[in-house]
Amino acid sequence: MTTSSVYPDPTTLTDWRRDFHRHPEIAFEEHRTSARIVEILDEHDIDYVAGLGGGTGVVATINGRHGAGRSIGLRADIDALPIDELNDVDYRSTTPGRMHACGHDGHTTMLLGAACALARDPDFAGTVHLIFQPAEESEGGGRVMVEEGLFERFPMEAVYGLHNWPGLAVGEAAVHDGAVMASFDVFTLRLTGRGCHAAMPHLGTDVVLAACQLVNQLQGLVSRETPPHESAVLSVTQFHAGDAYNVLPETVELRGTVRTFDADLKARLEQRFRDAIDATAGFHGLKAEFDYQTRYPATINSPVHAARCAEVLEALPAIDRVHRDLAPSMGSEDFAFMLEQCPGAYVWLGNGDSAALHNPAYDFNDAIAPFGVAYWQALTRQLLSA
Ligand SMILES: [Zn+2]
Ligand SMILES: [Zn+2]
Repeated sequence: MTTSSVYPDPTTLTDWRRDFHRHPEIAFEEHRTSARIVEILDEHDIDYVAGLGGGTGVVATINGRHGAGRSIGLRADIDALPIDELNDVDYRSTTPGRMHACGHDGHTTMLLGAACALARDPDFAGTVHLIFQPAEESEGGGRVMVEEGLFERFPMEAVYGLHNWPGLAVGEAAVHDGAVMASFDVFTLRLTGRGCHAAMPHLGTDVVLAACQLVNQLQGLVSRETPPHESAVLSVTQFHAGDAYNVLPETVELRGTVRTFDADLKARLEQRFRDAIDATAGFHGLKAEFDYQTRYPATINSPVHAARCAEVLEALPAIDRVHRDLAPSMGSEDFAFMLEQCPGAYVWLGNGDSAALHNPAYDFNDAIAPFGVAYWQALTRQLLSA
């Protein structure tokens, strides 16, 4: 791929990306970001609907010049994180406590680049919808867009996503045939007993002992009850109780997260978690209040769609290698909500040897933006070939 044949040229992509990077906005607050997306779409005479997904989402639509046909969706997330940036670059975040530490500035740029390229040369039949989705981080903007009627208003037979991937070399990609990212659940458990003088434990019910026993028992749910070939994580990340040397506290609060790739396993773990709580609370005579929240489902690629993505990536001159056997990540991704409703695939594009995602020293690699644009274009032309 020579620079002269690339549209938009890499310098324009870098300018867009660094502008987004300077002005990061977190979940559902992406007003400037959304306005800039719309501005670039307007400059290139691309049709769009703005104000989606709670207000800051945008869907651009491009029809091929070869008439009616199939319809697909390409999705980028546009939000930043509540992190203070550590990078000393001239385009560093201008907003304290806000940072594009997951590369969504790059994802937005690549999808905009694809929109401009496809609009200039719509050498396909049918329709491509380019989905600029807010609030990927923790807030589930993907779910909001789906519930709002994304797939009814913009019918598509498949939907595709991508994420830059630190640690994967520039020029490499990874495509999974099934699970790519794990589900993400959180829990809060409050155990209440009878507090008492620490010198007379027999007069109370010791919630600290009970909670310790429970935490131990929970480890068995993954190590003993989950089949060894399946993946699950149950992490107790908070344990709060007491504030005196000589008082056994009345309450203890535990919090944490559960992650799996399989919905049945997830349901089983939640049920066994409840069984363990009931047994512990019953044995120690405690009151248990358990709040278990399902946040994101697992992100599961359709093998057929994943194969198409891999084929397109393998044919790109800029991509040297497409991994088909990388382990999925126990991280999570709200593109899962779109894949629950519509088949498709989510691929990883190597970001090179950068800091990890969500690290204050992370930065999207501008060198890979043209690869992402080329991928979106090639995928569209391949899937919507006239
Ligand atoms: Zn992230
Ligand atoms: Zn991300």
